[in-house]
Amino acid sequence: MALRRTPEGTSDLLIEVRDMTKVYGAGDMAVHALQGVSLDVRRGEFVAIMGPSGSGKSTFMHLLGCLDRPTSGSYCLAGQEVSRLSADELAIVRSRQIGFVFQSFNLLARTTALENVELPMLYAGMPRDTRTSRATELLASVGLGNRLDHRPSELSGGQQQRVAIARALANGAPLLMADEPTGNLDSASSAEIMMLVRRLNEQQGLTVVLVTHDMGVAAWSKRVVTFRDGRIVSDTPVADAVPEAVRAGAGHAHTAVHEGAPA
Ligand code: ADP
Repeated sequence: MALRRTPEGTSDLLIEVRDMTKVYGAGDMAVHALQGVSLDVRRGEFVAIMGPSGSGKSTFMHLLGCLDRPTSGSYCLAGQEVSRLSADELAIVRSRQIGFVFQSFNLLARTTALENVELPMLYAGMPRDTRTSRATELLASVGLGNRLDHRPSELSGGQQQRVAIARALANGAPLLMADEPTGNLDSASSAEIMMLVRRLNEQQGLTVVLVTHDMGVAAWSKRVVTFRDGRIVSDTPVADAVPEAVRAGAGHAHTAVHEGAPA
């Protein structure tokens, strides 16, 4: 097992990807989903990954999320080379470094908001009292302090996604990864969720990497990385990547972040 460790805090880089490739299958059936991707993400960045269907976004997110290993290339996450770790080792890295948010929320259906948020801490072996008080605080911080005992079916889509965000923060991971986090939400809830993510990025220094096909969602990020045919074809500050009109819409809602929204 090759490990390259940098003591916490000595590197500004959270993600260092070099020449990453991913091939599914072999021989005539081989699909070259990633064809040599390099990307650095500093701590505290907010990156949107865009690109047409089949361009390799999901594959890349799976690899960044330590859910799979690349065929070749290196991936250094928080100072640790993770590209050759075993599945069990990757699971440990995931639980320490990454919180995940999905399009379909992925909450446990028969479980309260509080218990859903406690779950990662239960797996991490945190004592019950600490778990409960931290989950309560996290739910309050996403505006759901009065919904602790509600089950997912008793919450709106936007509220369920806020529970999922609180759960993603439970282990104090520095990286939030989201796959189309607003894909199942109406535009008002979508703006609320993006406002919340942006606030976490700005106020807590959370590093955010999300996949979206929606310019309006990407407008909340600070940097847009675009994939095509398994390669990065552009990597630009959001001001250059997102049309002014779209940014203006997001910017308007963004004002509310500083006014204490979302409720
Ligand atoms: P995107 O998320 O941008 O739509 P994907 O990463 O899902 O792109 O897919 C990139 C390419 O890899 C596509 O050609 C897709 O069909 C292929 N692919 C993705 N996952 C698999 C898999 N598990 N097995 C075989 N081919 C796959």
